Amino acid sequence: MPDPRQKSRLTQMERRIERFVTERIAPHRYRTAVPLEVTHRIVGGEPVPFAAATSGEFTPLPIGTAWGRAWDTIWLHVSGDVPADWAALRPGTRLEAVIDLGFTGAHPGFQAEGLAYSSAGEPIKGLAPWNQYVPLEAEPGQRVQFWVEAAANPNVADFEGVRFRPTPLGLWETAGEDLLYRLKAADLALLDVEVYELLQDISVLTGVMKGSASTGPRRWQIAGALEEMVNALDPDDISGTATAARARLRPVLEKPAHASAHTVHATGHAHIDSAWLWPVRETVRKCARTFSNVLALMDQDDDFVFACSSAQQLAWIKQFYPQLFERIRRRVADGRFVPVGGMWVEADTNLPSGESLVRQFTFGQRFFQEEFGVTCEEVWLPDSFGYTGALPQIARAAGARWFFTQKLSWNRVNRMPHNTFRWEGHDGSTLFAHMPPIETYTAQLSAEELLHAENGFADHLNSSMSLAPYGWGDGGGGPTREMLSAARRSADLEGIPRVRLGSPADFFTAAETENPRPPIWKGELYLELHRGTYTSQARTKRGNRLGESLLREAELWATTASVQVGTPYPVEVLEEAWRQVLLLQFHDILPGSSIAWVHREAEATYAAVAATLQASIEDSLAALAGSGDATLRFNASPWARDGVAALAAGPGEPASGPDVALQRSGSSLVLTNERVRVVIDERGLLVGLDDHRGRALFSAERPGNLLQLHRDLPTEWDAWDLDEHYRQHVEDLDAPAVIEVVAEDADVVTVSIRRSFGASSSEQRITVARGREVVRIETDVDWNEREKVLKLAFPFRLDATESTAETQFGHVTRPTTTNTSWEEAKFEICAHRWLHVDEGGYGVGVVNATVYGHDVVRDRDGDTPVTVVRETLLRSPRFPDPQTDQGRHAFVTLLAPGADRARTVELGYDLAFPVRERRGTGEVAPLVSVSGAGVLVETVKLADDRSGDVVVRLYESLGRRQEVTVRADFAHHGVARVDLLERGEQAPTPEAFTAVVRPFELITLRFARESG
Ligand SMILES: [Zn+2]
Repeated sequence: MPDPRQKSRLTQMERRIERFVTERIAPHRYRTAVPLEVTHRIVGGEPVPFAAATSGEFTPLPIGTAWGRAWDTIWLHVSGDVPADWAALRPGTRLEAVIDLGFTGAHPGFQAEGLAYSSAGEPIKGLAPWNQYVPLEAEPGQRVQFWVEAAANPNVADFEGVRFRPTPLGLWETAGEDLLYRLKAADLALLDVEVYELLQDISVLTGVMKGSASTGPRRWQIAGALEEMVNALDPDDISGTATAARARLRPVLEKPAHASAHTVHATGHAHIDSAWLWPVRETVRKCARTFSNVLALMDQDDDFVFACSSAQQLAWIKQFYPQLFERIRRRVADGRFVPVGGMWVEADTNLPSGESLVRQFTFGQRFFQEEFGVTCEEVWLPDSFGYTGALPQIARAAGARWFFTQKLSWNRVNRMPHNTFRWEGHDGSTLFAHMPPIETYTAQLSAEELLHAENGFADHLNSSMSLAPYGWGDGGGGPTREMLSAARRSADLEGIPRVRLGSPADFFTAAETENPRPPIWKGELYLELHRGTYTSQARTKRGNRLGESLLREAELWATTASVQVGTPYPVEVLEEAWRQVLLLQFHDILPGSSIAWVHREAEATYAAVAATLQASIEDSLAALAGSGDATLRFNASPWARDGVAALAAGPGEPASGPDVALQRSGSSLVLTNERVRVVIDERGLLVGLDDHRGRALFSAERPGNLLQLHRDLPTEWDAWDLDEHYRQHVEDLDAPAVIEVVAEDADVVTVSIRRSFGASSSEQRITVARGREVVRIETDVDWNEREKVLKLAFPFRLDATESTAETQFGHVTRPTTTNTSWEEAKFEICAHRWLHVDEGGYGVGVVNATVYGHDVVRDRDGDTPVTVVRETLLRSPRFPDPQTDQGRHAFVTLLAPGADRARTVELGYDLAFPVRERRGTGEVAPLVSVSGAGVLVETVKLADDRSGDVVVRLYESLGRRQEVTVRADFAHHGVARVDLLERGEQAPTPEAFTAVVRPFELITLRFARESG
């Protein structure tokens, strides 16, 4: 125990030092300053380019003037003369302008932001709180001038100072007229370099001191040195005595790190959300501000390396800031500005389809290669909300071998056992993975953070290093010179880990060499948080799912038409549609966690993309169908359907079988064909469901098709989080409903069920059709609830200990048990087109058109175990979009009693790709045919290099090893297996492609064609 008197002595020393630094030293950071003249012009509305912005009339903007409605832009012209008498003051200083736009205490990127431009219109540097300077070159007596584009971005995150408070700020139309900021300062100043350096010495040493044990010598020695530093300074001449003061600190700054100290590889970074609490258009400017800041810092500091993800963001810079892009290109060539991640955006990885994740990489890697000659070897997803087990295989096939995230440190219950591990995907592919123990992607490199990294590192046994991305993020900003100063002083300093500046690749290379066989984590990396993101903003989800399906179909038929009848392949249309869909898969858009502005734009974009793709599909079908008058059925599913081969068209034949029957039994309706039977009671609930094989899946006590309304008030993070406590309040919508038979003939029987609840209403249509083994449930909801979640429940009388859900290029099996905290935490799960449960080989498929969120719970019906599968249809959080999901929605669910997993896979495709009927002549043969049960053709397209080669992507869908043969039915030179970038290792073979595939293996084939 420390002697209390000694402890008190230490506390007094530290307080004395702190006050002296704050009150006596910090004010002398600038040796002198004079005010600059500021004039301004209100641009308002949407941003305009430099030339247009600076050509209008400018009027004075005195210090203290309020400016900026939410989301408005003003331009400042800033000018002044360097005083002639500064000549004597110049040695040991840097000339800077210091601009304070009225910055608040909020983080950079969550408030006012600025970008300084030269008179030539070239971006100089971003302006943000704690980074307010503009470097200038001028001599005493000369005039300086520059421009500032100032954006009045509101702080949506802390509206009225309260986190997660519903706010009107997220939409231009509702954001209000108030002026948000007040110009605080615009000065021309001389930075006193020695005083600045002294302040950085003090900052680092204070951090180390406070991180050291109060009984230990290090803390006392630093306190003593800092006290000597104070004594060496003359309060009346801080500038003149700073050098002497720094000398007092040198002995404690030169003490090397402990021989066993951990090493932190610090990489400059700025996590920029491509949209979130700001619209996409603002992200374009955030990138320009951040990258300008980064380039300015590189000019000052030769060791500074910056890692930049997201090809989309650099594509924006190329489009809107070409000069900046050229400077970036030069820094990429220097190895200082390092493209990372290889993806188009930092996508969500729960929700996008397998092919979407493929395109995230191919569009990203292709951009980085074409623009910079770089292939990224790491996956860089610090902030996405969980990671699919399909990712390792996709990333490997796109040229990556490392994986970086930090998000799993947000788990609310279970802690990941390792920081450095080998991540094995569902097919067996692996990535060397790292989750930084610093547990942030916006580090400042403070001693406190560095010690947190060292103390929390789970892998000291096998590894001595971790990664730390430093720099302001989320809303951009990036590293500051203070962070670099801290890094330099922390390179080899007693009391904290060693800090080494470098790129992510530097870290991964060293870490993998040191620890070549780390522990393995198999399967998905489930984030124990943000489970509401599978559901929030249902229209955005729907737009994504439909967009993905249309893209697949548009490519398939366009390729078929191109190869078979020579129709031009609409490459620009398809690539642009992909780019739109890929952008909207960003980890705050598709998950539904952005402001209203973003989601309304997303809905409009999806509608436009869908219209374009429908038109493209129509063109292709018309070209393929020809001019005859026969009925042709186009089947985009990867197997024969209704008498039409996979990926082909023909006359086919509709599903056949006995007539559908409707029987009225008391107040119940019984819908039957020879394959399925369903009983609907007066409540509109399914009290019977079977496939005529004697298994009753529902009962009157535990009916299916039950809509359940839960209170949904998350503890925090409203749009993101569905907390387990939502289950504590439930209202079953099981009152008698308005029931009507709306179709009744030999081919189809449909029963409509209408009900009202709260301020909302729903209509469901339950259909049994000739020859089909499924019950189709269409659910329309006019949703006007607030902070509620709507679930559609199916309590199957099955004892299923696990559920299986479609994921990218395969499926994921998760326990339904809650025996461990890891199982319990998965109380809400993501499924793509289907979810399947079974008991001893007898199962049921639940197939959906546009839903992702599900839960599967074990329950009882009397003595019988019940597995309750629920689709999460809608939520209604009020932050960050207070109107989330209000209005009309439409859902489709297929119930397939008795379906095994393989059949459920097929039903998922069949629902996503309805047969299209057209008039035409003859038949359309498929371009390829596949033998090998469960090996599915996901993609047929022309090669990205525009050579005319045909690319076919397949995957094994059932988790089984089996042989597959793929044959092409068109003239070609041979087929080669290629990677996702469509590069082959070997020459094409002239034969059909044959291989034994492993479970969930992804195969991309390239068929070389005659040119011309
Ligand atoms: Zn983010």
